[in-house]
Amino acid sequence: MDECIFCKIVDGQAPAIIIHKDEEVTAFRDIHPVAPTHILIVPNKHITSVNEINPNDEPLMGRLFTIARVLAEKEGVSQNGYRLIVNTGPHGGQVVYHLHMHLMGGQRMRHPIG
Ligand code: 5GP
Ligand code: ZN
Repeated sequence: MDECIFCKIVDGQAPAIIIHKDEEVTAFRDIHPVAPTHILIVPNKHITSVNEINPNDEPLMGRLFTIARVLAEKEGVSQNGYRLIVNTGPHGGQVVYHLHMHLMGGQRMRHPIG
């Protein structure tokens, strides 16, 4: 996926503030944060959106949640809570077509969902 910005970030070919990196998952700060903590958690392998998830991706998808939990603790937002969002397709507001989970916290989320 030569033109995918998140693949480039995962590969170290585009800059980002990396918060977490392992063999399967990378997390980095959103370039336009909408909350004091706004992190994007992505699978290292290119999955375009939730529409392209296969059953054998289930452990990887579960790992996104585990990393979200760990990073929420590290960011100090666990107690007050946070919001996890995975936008999918045009109606879901997806802009970057490499599956990613938003982790947002540090303030009460104001904007309504929907
Ligand atoms: P989506 O609407 O696809 O769920 O969210 C895409 C998110 O990626 C947006 O919040 C946007 O600010 C963020 N983003 C887009 N391009 C870049 C980039 O090059 N670097 C980083 N760190 N975040 C990006
Ligand atoms: Zn990608």
